[in-house]
Amino acid sequence: MDNHFHEEESYRDRVSTVTESGKRKWIYALAPKGKFYNWRSILSALYIVVFVAIPFIKVNGLPLVMFNIVEGKFILFSKIFWPHDFFIFAVAMICFIIIIVLFTIIYGRLFCGWVCPQTVFMEFIFRKIEWWIEGSPSAQRKLNEGPWDTNKIIKKLSKHILFLIISFFIANIFLSYIIGVDQLYRIIKEPISDHLSLLFGLFFFSLLFYGVFAYVREIVCTTICPYGRLQGVMFDKNTMQIAYDYKRGEPRGRVKKGEERTHGDCVDCMKCVHVCPTGIDIRNGLQMECVGCTACIDACNEVMHKLNFQPNLIRYASEDEIKNDIPFKITNRMKAYTAVLIGLMIFLATLVMSRRSVDAFITRVKGQTYQELENGSKISNIFNAKIINKTHQEINAELRLEDGMQGEIKLVGVDHILLHKDHINEFSFFVTLPKGSVASRKNSIKIGLYNGDEKIQTIKTTFLGPFN
Ligand code: SF4
Ligand code: SF4
Repeated sequence: MDNHFHEEESYRDRVSTVTESGKRKWIYALAPKGKFYNWRSILSALYIVVFVAIPFIKVNGLPLVMFNIVEGKFILFSKIFWPHDFFIFAVAMICFIIIIVLFTIIYGRLFCGWVCPQTVFMEFIFRKIEWWIEGSPSAQRKLNEGPWDTNKIIKKLSKHILFLIISFFIANIFLSYIIGVDQLYRIIKEPISDHLSLLFGLFFFSLLFYGVFAYVREIVCTTICPYGRLQGVMFDKNTMQIAYDYKRGEPRGRVKKGEERTHGDCVDCMKCVHVCPTGIDIRNGLQMECVGCTACIDACNEVMHKLNFQPNLIRYASEDEIKNDIPFKITNRMKAYTAVLIGLMIFLATLVMSRRSVDAFITRVKGQTYQELENGSKISNIFNAKIINKTHQEINAELRLEDGMQGEIKLVGVDHILLHKDHINEFSFFVTLPKGSVASRKNSIKIGLYNGDEKIQTIKTTFLGPFN
């Protein structure tokens, strides 16, 4: 039994890219050919164009998307979100996580194989360059194991220089999602010494991407990526995955000329293993290393076609579909997640739609109580105002006492309020009230923020008076 387990299940003891002695097993993947690979190539090309184009797209002078983590300023569909919109972000993040969970329960690692930037860049840029310069997997292996002659030096140098250039390009685009293209132009045009930290960031990301695509590769998917690590707990027997139809394929056996076939449809050609970018044998069943890239489907279908066998011995299918011939169905768990998801999406949409484009916060200056003016006939408090203008226009604003309250508002250091665009505007002001209207120690007052006659917001605050 133990021996049987060791033979049958030993591949589960360690990840596919590590040898029994714990060393890295370099994967020399064969180039896939077929329907899925062609579709993925088209989608990847589109994806790369969109990824590169997005930072350059501006609406009303604002980038379409920008995630400026450094300044805490985020732009989505040309709308600016500030740290004060954190609540919207928190709900968006919860929605996003539930979408991922729900999507994974239903479609497995479809995202990893078709959309994940790691797979797209690795398989459709870097791997292609490697095949182009170093040749087929066997040629690559020979080159790696061979001496450092002129041929090897030229091939390795050209490959790594190209990898570095592309990594630098990706890092530029990546950085423009964070700081915006305008800032990126500035780094290019202005003296290097003015942008040392950004330049450091640019080189850091370039080297990081180079390291990932030249060396780390599939380890990102099999070991580092948290989404990949969580797949196991999200999958169930109805999850769509890349599956080998063992009922049809087993017992596997090679085709022998002139002999009547008594085996299953798998001819043990190992093509599905040779094309796998994570080096696994899908015939062993679902493994966490499978990124759902479909290369094995294409490889096996090519073999099936040549032998005149039915296609799709390896295909998209659920465990139940293969084991019990039960077609794909929506489970109660999927329905529950969908209901929660719809609820959250409605909540999120309401939050975004009701989000104010100008947000004002007024607080009394810490440590200050009140001042008596004009022989004690008037009481004055000093306040700090923080007004976030999330629009892309300057606003001439005014503060007014609300509810017909007598008194006056006097700005400190400025004669009018100009709210700069995309900016947190901060200033101080005094509110002076006749002593008669200050009834108690703590008095609730309302201050209106106006743009001309249009009221932007009413802010409640506390006005301190003397002890009575
Ligand atoms: S098993 Fe198939 S789908 Fe999974 S990673 Fe390998 S080639 Fe891609
Ligand atoms: S490619 Fe198909 S036939 Fe060949 S070993 Fe894999 S499953 Fe079997």
